[in-house]
Amino acid sequence: CGTGVAFTRNPATGEKKLFGEFLTNAQGEDVVAGVRTPMPISQMAEKFPEAFAQFEQVCKILEDHYHDMQDMEFTVENGKLYMLQTRNGKRTPAAALKIACDLVDEGMIDEKQAVAMIEPRSLDTLLHPQFDAEALKKAPLIGSALAASPGAASGKIVFTAEDAKEWAARGEKVVLVRLETSPEDIEGMKAAQGILTVRGGMTSHAAVVARGMGECCVSGCSAINMDEANKQFELGGKVFHEGDWLSLDGSTGKIYDGAIPTVDASIGGEFGRVMGWADKYRRLQVRTNADTPHDAAQARKFGAQGIGLTRTEHMFFDEDRIPAIREMICSDTVEQREKALAKLEPMQQSDFEGIYEAMEGCPVTIRFLDPPLHEFVPTEEADIELLAKDMGKSVAEIKNIIASLHEFNPMMGHRGCRLDVTYPEIAVMQTRAVIKAALAVQARHPEWNMVPEIMIPLVGEVKELAYVKKIVVETADEIIKAAGSDMKYLVGTMIEIPRAALTADEIATQADFFSFGTNDLTQMTFGFSRDDAGKFLDAYYDKKIYENDPFAKLDQKGVGKLVEMACKLGRSVNPKLHLGICGEHGGDPSSVEFCHRVGLDYVSCSPFRVPIARLAAAQAAIKDEK
Ligand code: PEP
Ligand code: MG
Repeated sequence: CGTGVAFTRNPATGEKKLFGEFLTNAQGEDVVAGVRTPMPISQMAEKFPEAFAQFEQVCKILEDHYHDMQDMEFTVENGKLYMLQTRNGKRTPAAALKIACDLVDEGMIDEKQAVAMIEPRSLDTLLHPQFDAEALKKAPLIGSALAASPGAASGKIVFTAEDAKEWAARGEKVVLVRLETSPEDIEGMKAAQGILTVRGGMTSHAAVVARGMGECCVSGCSAINMDEANKQFELGGKVFHEGDWLSLDGSTGKIYDGAIPTVDASIGGEFGRVMGWADKYRRLQVRTNADTPHDAAQARKFGAQGIGLTRTEHMFFDEDRIPAIREMICSDTVEQREKALAKLEPMQQSDFEGIYEAMEGCPVTIRFLDPPLHEFVPTEEADIELLAKDMGKSVAEIKNIIASLHEFNPMMGHRGCRLDVTYPEIAVMQTRAVIKAALAVQARHPEWNMVPEIMIPLVGEVKELAYVKKIVVETADEIIKAAGSDMKYLVGTMIEIPRAALTADEIATQADFFSFGTNDLTQMTFGFSRDDAGKFLDAYYDKKIYENDPFAKLDQKGVGKLVEMACKLGRSVNPKLHLGICGEHGGDPSSVEFCHRVGLDYVSCSPFRVPIARLAAAQAAIKDEK
């Protein structure tokens, strides 16, 4: 007698070969219980040749019936085989792709069924490095927080972006631990293996930027007791100092003491085959959110069909630009501001040229400056002194300007298109850079049809959009005419304020496209700060008031209602209105399905989520067809 558990195919690799374990002198669930060490299933053939032959036959019958790999339990009693249980077997993402392709080749399923049987989110693990599974089992877990950006990172703890850059430059692997991150930290974030923040949710700066870079991030770990001044923190009963090793799993949100070896991502041929099928059946286009030529090129490799969002502000934090942007902010007159903006214009133009080149003629949406200006002003005394010297002002004057930029609620303050309404010269400079870059790239690549897309953020009123659009159109037309070109361009808006969604029929009269900024739209609809909600949302999940983080998975009932309404209202006055989404939800499978259902033209997400969105879009189309 004996008992066993087996898979019809290898659940780790997908290989078409019986895989499992067998125990003699045992019955029922004994293998599953793990009380004795079983033998490989192949040895069953020697012990019970007849029952084994019959078992192989049953495996085939079950696979033919369920059209999928099976995970079975069985017993042999006095040489007679009894099947106890069968179900579709769990498998690794790599095995899932191989099994789907093999089942198509064996004629057991069609391409659509193959596309439907792969969990889009599981593709994450194929695209990012992961911890070595054996080493991970032994690693001391010290805490967990939000799985903000997938991948695995081990490095020495540093507390500032500056240190991250310096340590990385001398060849050290580092993990950047911050209370929260801001655009100033970009270079340090890039240099780190991973990022851990105490505050912030799934759409906080750290989470969004890390996802864009494809870098591991665990955010909102409120259990950390941070002591930035002494460069140390306490977590899980232990104090960690600068230079101590820490490991982060951005796919699970787990934090480990010490270093854990990682294994690189591997994408096999089956991945491309399944993606090809997904592209054949999806209706939604998939674009990417990318701010640099590097990220844009990465997204192209993953199949992005354009850029749905370039956040221009991230380019302002480079060392060579920040002085000019600070000069612009601290100017007293329009002339001074224009002088500072004139320094930025060629830099922006070359940024945009780089992005256009990387996208090889695909559509590119560039969003105008969005964050509150105080994010750009210096905080260090030395930087304040330098700025004062550069501008011929006193330190006290600069400090006064900085103090005047303080806002109680900056997310609802002087940001987005409000900056262009108060300082139209910013819109002029950004339009010039967008259009001049497109003309230059068009001249270099006559085969591309460059149609730059300018996106105005945070619009809530049609007159506000009309005001900024007029500046854009006058500036763009003049440059295009002077160049003797007939290049077309589009002007559209983000829909990220509830009032914009509610008045979308008015807004659409001034817009060529809408892009739903569901990060801000969620923030403003719920009245939850996207950077602080993590602190109290756990209580809501515990009490079953909310089931999911609305910043990660679109709240279809509330925020989705606004999106759907805006689509209908917008298209009622402008049937050609192009509709997309560029909030973080654009890479979330259930939200992608929603976007398909309400008739958006495209979703836009961070580069590493592009394959996930392609697959989710295909699954939505296939489901819809059914
Ligand atoms: C949004 O609000 O959804 C958006 C994409 O813009 P940001 O995240 O830059 O505010
Ligand atoms: Mg926004």
